[in-house]
Amino acid sequence: MLNAMNISDNSKQNAPTKSSQTVLVAEDDAVFRRVLERQLQNWGYQAIVVEDGTEAWEILQQPNPPELLILDWMMPGIDGLELCRRIRQKQDDRYQYVVLLTGKDEKEDVIEGLNSGADDYLTKPFNIGELRARLRTGKRILALQRELIQAREALRFEATHDALTGLWSRGATLHLLESEMQRGARTRTSTGILMVDLDHFKNVNDTHGHLIGDEVLKEAAYRIGQAVRSYDFVGRYGGEEFLAILTNCTLADLHMVAERIRSAIADLPITTKTASVKATVSIGGVVASKGAHDLEFLAVADSALYEAKRTGRNRVVIGKCDPRPVLDETFKCSSGIAHA
Ligand code: GH3
Ligand code: MG
Ligand code: MG
Ligand code: MG
Repeated sequence: MLNAMNISDNSKQNAPTKSSQTVLVAEDDAVFRRVLERQLQNWGYQAIVVEDGTEAWEILQQPNPPELLILDWMMPGIDGLELCRRIRQKQDDRYQYVVLLTGKDEKEDVIEGLNSGADDYLTKPFNIGELRARLRTGKRILALQRELIQAREALRFEATHDALTGLWSRGATLHLLESEMQRGARTRTSTGILMVDLDHFKNVNDTHGHLIGDEVLKEAAYRIGQAVRSYDFVGRYGGEEFLAILTNCTLADLHMVAERIRSAIADLPITTKTASVKATVSIGGVVASKGAHDLEFLAVADSALYEAKRTGRNRVVIGKCDPRPVLDETFKCSSGIAHA
């Protein structure tokens, strides 16, 4: 009962903070609602207070829903227990910390509440100071959860990206190519690739040193990333070699993007800490034909790149991929004519 709440909790000694922490309260008892709202505000929380589980569930469907929840067990419509179950079934990276308010305090009831997905519970009438402490625990757990997610994301990024350039790693690039080609086959669209290799890059290292070489690589990677379309992928395929994967790509798109990459590198010297370095790239490209296998596809781009090197560098060569069914082992690809 409300009169058992210790409203003279020492919280009032602390000035309310401008915490961005929001608490969603679902409680059908108007008096409890008012007290909870006032206390939460005093503790620096932003309180969203609703009268039943249905309203709470609607709020939880919206983008960036509250992460700290105080749910009454007994409510009309969706009760606290059912709400807990729904919250836990949601496929969501964000964790919601749920404190269940209950008039029941039999062991079985508590077990049922926790089994339904509540993190904690308070039996009515409850001590307001205890609620405050339990919310703090919730905040701590949510903060740990966020740190865990961030650490996992950082690990995932490190595992799939090249440390020097920030582009996709070789492994991730090949994986992307495979899935893009599968997607292209499903959606009947063509995938293009461009193999981009810095010309005479060994000379850059020999003349300016490896660190300047690294700076040039980084800037070249950046320019290539800027030259492709927003829905394309660029990976570091080897030391000074990059692979651009162009989704939904016609031959005209391939030519256009390749030329944009070529000129993005060649037209403006790369300024590093100690030297201005003139760099160029050679590019071999191909648009996948129906049924082409990604490795065969790469082989065509590779020979087109070789052709670009052989015929003078700082140029684009687009190869040809003959259409053959996937299972045809006589599948053949050949590189085509040079396009300066
Ligand atoms: P080509 O025009 O035929 O491609 O000549 P190239 O000199 O670019 O090719 P080569 O394969 O002979 O040399 C590649 C050079 O790229 C040698 C290698 O040290 C350098 N390289 C590869 N990875 C890195 C890197 O991460 N940093 C630096 N600074 N250099 C790298
Ligand atoms: Mg109730
Ligand atoms: Mg090279
Ligand atoms: Mg190379």
